[in-house]
Amino acid sequence: MSAELSGTTALVTGATSGIGRAAAIELARRGAKVVVSGRDEARGQQVVDGIREAGGEALFLAGDLSDAASARSLANRAKEQAGQVDVLVNNAGIFPVGPTHETSEQDFESVYAINVKAPFFLVAELAPDMASRGHGAIVNVTTMAAELGASGASLYGSSKAALTLLTKAWAAEYGPFGVRVNAVSPGPTRTEGTSGMEEKLKAIASASPAGRVGTAEEIASAIAYLATDAAGFIHGAILAVDGGRTAV
Ligand code: NAP
Repeated sequence: MSAELSGTTALVTGATSGIGRAAAIELARRGAKVVVSGRDEARGQQVVDGIREAGGEALFLAGDLSDAASARSLANRAKEQAGQVDVLVNNAGIFPVGPTHETSEQDFESVYAINVKAPFFLVAELAPDMASRGHGAIVNVTTMAAELGASGASLYGSSKAALTLLTKAWAAEYGPFGVRVNAVSPGPTRTEGTSGMEEKLKAIASASPAGRVGTAEEIASAIAYLATDAAGFIHGAILAVDGGRTAV
């Protein structure tokens, strides 16, 4: 077990599946105590069990991130049960696609609630504590769809574009107090959440230098890197982990 993050606690949202689960496993492998969060208790417990079997430390906290109160509640329960939170990974997200004119107000509210409002109030609750200790790292998971104007991605892309801006605003706000805020921007990645979209993922990936779909572990590795002191001079960066798709 690596000691890079030993003595720290990481809260990972959406850690019951895909990229979040891989990030929780990788952070634990690097020595962090990980608070695994999501709505599905059975899948959450499986992730915790896997981390413990590998010699790591983890606990599960259930939470439906649907508004500010649920975000604040998750942050406070994490502080109570894990002592403090040193690393926050804002990964939980939903990514429906469709025409703007067929998007209901309810769709709009739910996408912005989980993709923007929940990270906003988790940071509001946790960043001041990190700042008062003079040390902390926040990693937001955005998407390459926040960079490109893609038909059908207006709702999802704009919500993640908000998270991209928040990454920079929070870097400016909390960076001077020792809290580094960065984002990982994945390209097409094979997860449970994209399991019905294999052909679409391959089509997007075919236009990239890597020419292939990414794995959750490849995204997790970048998330974990940004959480460690190895990334100590990196503030407000949006790290593209997309096989080079947004570079060409
Ligand atoms: P996934 O497999 O669908 O996992 C999504 C996670 O978010 C699950 O753990 C889910 O947990 C949690 N979640 C969803 N709604 C929630 C809610 N209301 N409250 C609390 N947790 C909730 O997705 P993924 O593909 O790993 O994506 C993870 C992140 O990467 C997302 O932010 C996504 O936008 C971003 N991303 C993904 C790709 C890709 O190609 N996969 C590309 C770019 C960006 P429960 O089901 O337990 O609630």
